[in-house]
Amino acid sequence: MPKILIPTPLRQYVEKQDSVEIDGATVGELLDKLSGAYPDLRRHLFSDEGKLRSFVNIYVNDEDIRYLGREATAVQPADTISIVPSVAGGASAALSHEEILRYSRHLIMPEVGMDGQLKLKQAKVLLIGAGGLGSPLALYLAAAGVGRIGLVDFDVVDVTNLQRQIIHGTSDVGRKKLDSAAEAMLEINPNIQVDRHETALSSENALHILRDYDVIVDGTDNFPTRYLVNDACVLLGKPNVYGSIFRFEGQATVFAYPGGPCYRCLYAEPPPPGLVPSCAEGGVLGILPGLIGTVQATETVKLILGIGQPLVGRLLLYDALSMRIRELKLRRDPECPVCGDHPTIRELIDYHQFCGVTPEEAGPTEWDIEAPDVKTRMDRGDRFVLVDVREPHEYQICRLPNSRLIPLGDLPKRVNELDTAEEIIAHCRSGVRSAKAIDFLRKAGFRKLRNLRGGILAWSDKVDPRVPKY
Ligand code: ZN
Repeated sequence: MPKILIPTPLRQYVEKQDSVEIDGATVGELLDKLSGAYPDLRRHLFSDEGKLRSFVNIYVNDEDIRYLGREATAVQPADTISIVPSVAGGASAALSHEEILRYSRHLIMPEVGMDGQLKLKQAKVLLIGAGGLGSPLALYLAAAGVGRIGLVDFDVVDVTNLQRQIIHGTSDVGRKKLDSAAEAMLEINPNIQVDRHETALSSENALHILRDYDVIVDGTDNFPTRYLVNDACVLLGKPNVYGSIFRFEGQATVFAYPGGPCYRCLYAEPPPPGLVPSCAEGGVLGILPGLIGTVQATETVKLILGIGQPLVGRLLLYDALSMRIRELKLRRDPECPVCGDHPTIRELIDYHQFCGVTPEEAGPTEWDIEAPDVKTRMDRGDRFVLVDVREPHEYQICRLPNSRLIPLGDLPKRVNELDTAEEIIAHCRSGVRSAKAIDFLRKAGFRKLRNLRGGILAWSDKVDPRVPKY
């Protein structure tokens, strides 16, 4: 009688046998009898239409039946028939015993099952950013068995990250986030592949990097990269799983899904630079990226499995303070410059220019003064007013000697407390807000102005480490 060899992942459906002997004249007859004897096996071999599944290859002895007579291939009593699950690339897509056990809570759900778990294993997902949103995304997608996960990041782990970026630990401070994240992911699941893209995503490299992946997940925190990721996803026809966080509020949706809207349909243009503060300036509840990142991970897995209703055309709004979730309808804009009916953007543009921001590390301006120079002038007894433009709750964390607190937002109504005859040195945490204060004072007629470059952070680094950084 011909013998059918059963591959490891399918043995659970044939009473754990590694081979079954069945009588029959053709391959089709044998497989039909086999799945008649073991009904649970049928859906793993055949689609609902009764067609042999595309990832299942059948061999008679050492020949693929696609090069013989397919299912009509005749078999002799001495023949051995092999069932070989495969993927297009030829690599085996079967699950090992360890993987079957690992994913058992997925495999026993009909919505995932063996087909779904193999889809996850063959899926390629790119995470932009290994920070707040990237942490839960990377951990859960690794645990779920997404076979190939790319990370784009060029940052190193900083102590201020640890309050929310749970993929990194205290001993990782100073390491590349890519290395720290990849290590944590492979510790959770050594069966996956982690691609490390150590770079800032740019118009020059984005299409090249994104092209290899099925789903793109946006975990960035700045507008130029958001527009860049959006446009690249639309141009490449890849879904963009979007999430954003600020203080106690988060948003999530899926952009660039066929027929659905893109980020530009929602926000055709970025806000003026400086209007919307970043998490570094405005703060963020450490738990918030956990929730939004997990929503993104869920949507990513749903897209891969093709189950449920994707978060397309709906913007999820989460407010942690009121613990309320709302949903807004999003529509594709036929006039959208990138995904509309007559797109005007057909290639990637200069996103820093588009968003009106210059890349970080701009050189010093004529108004800047370095922290050690301020210290020298303090020690010398020079006359100047040190104005701290931070918020009162930041003033409680730390302050510089003899500074006067006038929060940036209060400056217009309190400007009369300052004297144009006196020299004013403004400072904040990092130097961004104080630069705005200088700009405002200059327009108000002040001329003897200086901006403490790098703010409290620079003071702590270069003058007095007893002043804590935050
Ligand atoms: Zn659009």
